[in-house]
Amino acid sequence: MSTFIGALSKIEAVEHGGVAEDNAAYSPPPMLVPVLPSLAVISPYLEQIDHCNIYSNNGPLNRAFCNELAKYIGGRISEPGSVVATTVSNGTAAIELALRARARQNSQFIMLPAYTFIATAHAVSNVGYKPLFIDVDPELLTVTPDIARAAISEKGEPAALVVVSPFGGPVDIRAWEIFEAETGIPIIFDLAAGITSIRSVSKQPICISLHATKTIGVGEGGAVISTDADLIARIQQIASFGFKADTRVSEIRGGNYRLSEYAAAIGLASLKTAPQKLSTLFEKARIYRRELHKVVGFQPGFGDEWVAMTMNVILHPDRVERTISALEQHRIPWRRWWSSGCHTHPAFAQAERATLTATDVVAYRTIALPFHVKMSDEQIARVSEIVRVSQEYPS
Ligand SMILES: *Cc1c(COP(=O)(O)O)cnc(C)c1O
Repeated sequence: MSTFIGALSKIEAVEHGGVAEDNAAYSPPPMLVPVLPSLAVISPYLEQIDHCNIYSNNGPLNRAFCNELAKYIGGRISEPGSVVATTVSNGTAAIELALRARARQNSQFIMLPAYTFIATAHAVSNVGYKPLFIDVDPELLTVTPDIARAAISEKGEPAALVVVSPFGGPVDIRAWEIFEAETGIPIIFDLAAGITSIRSVSKQPICISLHATKTIGVGEGGAVISTDADLIARIQQIASFGFKADTRVSEIRGGNYRLSEYAAAIGLASLKTAPQKLSTLFEKARIYRRELHKVVGFQPGFGDEWVAMTMNVILHPDRVERTISALEQHRIPWRRWWSSGCHTHPAFAQAERATLTATDVVAYRTIALPFHVKMSDEQIARVSEIVRVSQEYPS
C-alpha cells in the first residue's frame, strides 16, 4: 500500500511541484463538452427558412434532414437504399412512439435492461406499460438474447423488449431479428447514443437521440430509423396528431412530437460537420486506449469501430474506490452516467425485475472518464496515469 501512495504522490509532485508550477496551463479537464456546428455552417440552412416561411410540419429542411440521416446510416450498411428515417422531438419520444407503434396487448410489462439511461424506463411508463428490468452481459454491458430468454422463463412474455446500446456501443441487430422471428416479441432498439456503431438496419425501429450531448446533435431532437417504410410512416403519423397524410383527419391516437425546421437546419449542419468531429473523437479515444491498454476494460470496438461522446471504462472490482478517490484527489471529474441502474432510482424502486446478477457489479465497476474533442493529449496522459497507478498496484 505504501508503494501505491508513493506512486500517486509522484503524480502530485508533478502537479504541485516543479513542472506544473512552470506550466500553469494545467487544469483538470471537464467531463464532457458538447460541440454543435457554428453559426457559419448553420446560417445557409436558416436562410432557406426565410425564403419559404415553413417553420415545422415536416417541411423541406426536415425532409432533407431525414434523407441525409438515412443516407448517413445507410452508407455504413450492406443495403443502404432501404433505410428510412423520421425525426421526432427528442430521443425519449422516439422510444415512446416506437413502442406505441409496436408493443402488443398480451402483457402489461415491457422488458428493458436495468442498466440504461433512466429515459428508457420513463418511456416505457409513459406509454402505459410497466417496466420489467432485466440483466446485462458483464462484458458487452447490453442485453443478449440468452439473457432475455432466461428473463422470459422467469417472468413470462412481455408486450415488447427494448434493447439498449450501452453508451453508444454496438448491439447485434441480426441476432435480435432472429430472436423476434422465433419468439414473436417485438424488439425496439434504444440506440440513443449509438449512431456510429450501427452496422445493420432491420425492420425493427432504431431510436436515436439528437440531444446536444450525443454525437449528432441539434439541441433537443430524436429520430427513428428502420427498413420498414410503413412503420416509419405510422410513427410519423402518431407524431403529428394521427393525421392521415395531407389531411386534417385524425385516424389514430397520437400527439405533437414534431421537430421544428430550425432544429432540422442544425441537423443538416451537424451531419456536414460530423466527419471532422468524429475523427477527433476517434483520435482521443485511441490515445486513451493506448494509455490504458490492459489496465482497464473497454467496451468492444471502442475507438476502432465506433465512438461516442462519453468514454466508459470497466475497473478492477477490488480497486474501484481507490481509483475514484485518486481521481477526486487530483480534481479529475468522473461519472456513473447510468448511476447504479434504473431499479435503484426512487421513481422505479417498486418496478418488477428479473434476477439482476451482473447489473449491480457492472454498474459499480463501470465509470466514465473525462472525454471530449477539446481534451489535450497531456490531459489524457495525466488522467490515464492516475488510473493506471490506482489500478495496477496490488491491493
Ligand atoms: C440520451 C439517451 C436517451 C434520451 O434521449 P433524449 O433525446 O435526451 O430524450 C435515451 N436512452 C439512452 C440510452 C440515452 O443515452
